[in-house]
Amino acid sequence: MSSAQVQIFDGPDISLRSDTIELPHQLETGAVLVEILLATICGSDMHTISGQRSEPTPLVLGHEAVGRVVAIGGTIDGLAVDDRITWTIADSCGACSYCKEYALPEKCERVFKYGHAPVTDGTGLNGCYASHIILRPGTTVVKIPVGMPDAVAAPANCALSTVCNAVSRMPSTIRSAMVQGAGMLGLYACAYLKEMGVEHVFCSDINIERLSLVADFGGIPLDIREESWPVNRANVFRCAPDGVDVVLEMAGASQLVAQGLELMRTGGYYSFVGMVHPNSPLPVTGEQIIRKCVTIQGIHNYSPVHLQQGIEFLEKTRGHFPYDRLVSPPIPLSRIDEAVALARTQKFCGVAVAP
Ligand SMILES: [Zn+2]
Ligand SMILES: [Zn+2]
Repeated sequence: MSSAQVQIFDGPDISLRSDTIELPHQLETGAVLVEILLATICGSDMHTISGQRSEPTPLVLGHEAVGRVVAIGGTIDGLAVDDRITWTIADSCGACSYCKEYALPEKCERVFKYGHAPVTDGTGLNGCYASHIILRPGTTVVKIPVGMPDAVAAPANCALSTVCNAVSRMPSTIRSAMVQGAGMLGLYACAYLKEMGVEHVFCSDINIERLSLVADFGGIPLDIREESWPVNRANVFRCAPDGVDVVLEMAGASQLVAQGLELMRTGGYYSFVGMVHPNSPLPVTGEQIIRKCVTIQGIHNYSPVHLQQGIEFLEKTRGHFPYDRLVSPPIPLSRIDEAVALARTQKFCGVAVAP
């Protein structure tokens, strides 16, 4: 094979188009040619497709996937042809201040993010809605344990790793938590906190279908629609009389921050994860933050260590939580428009495509 099949995004409201991109004859040292086995459509891709966020075009979207190593530029310790792998959403240089001093490689000055770069950048094989992708030097690769289904592992390099990052910065003693949003991030967070031994993990949403999955992932579903709220609010304070220790914002809706603060105990910790868009002014005063002695932490993407932790977590808890129910059966890459339409219905937390 000398070329890869790709689906190209040309702009909002234009159908993705099938094309081919030539595979390079020789790989740069440290680069990895990967055959995509399965990719999942992320909410952020849906935002790009609908025009809510803008990316340079034309580009191959997709950053969540599992693949098989086809070729390696030179040698990489611990990696071999035919290994089944996933990889960090971004590479990082390892030399800038963010990489070396600030422990924020995800904010590397020269960061390159898969599924966000145009086909004119490098080999053009920069996204996962394709038969192949080329991983750049500086990308962390993690092997997928034998027996772990592709669909269980694929979303790990986005939502689950971000959850690992958020949890890693939290106080060590947590008895109660509130997760806002029962999407992919929220359900992984419920599972993670439950496994950590957090006694009460509430998870709120207004989508009843989504809430129906919460209990299976270790959470206590919290219907926050107006008619149900008074009873459910009382239930939170019955379990956590002072309020919850931590709140994780994973719904992307800034108006929910007022509710999060109301349910949080004084001296609590608030993780902001989901509101990665400009339409997120906060409905709070500085005084509320000060009087409640709140710690707020913004979380954007993650470090390589969090992907490793995410895959280990999946392997350890695969029997505890129904991860396979989060992702749709795979739709052929050539029919990606169908997959995008299915993602729009929000029937599944993730929609899978496979070449
Ligand atoms: Zn993603
Ligand atoms: Zn760097």
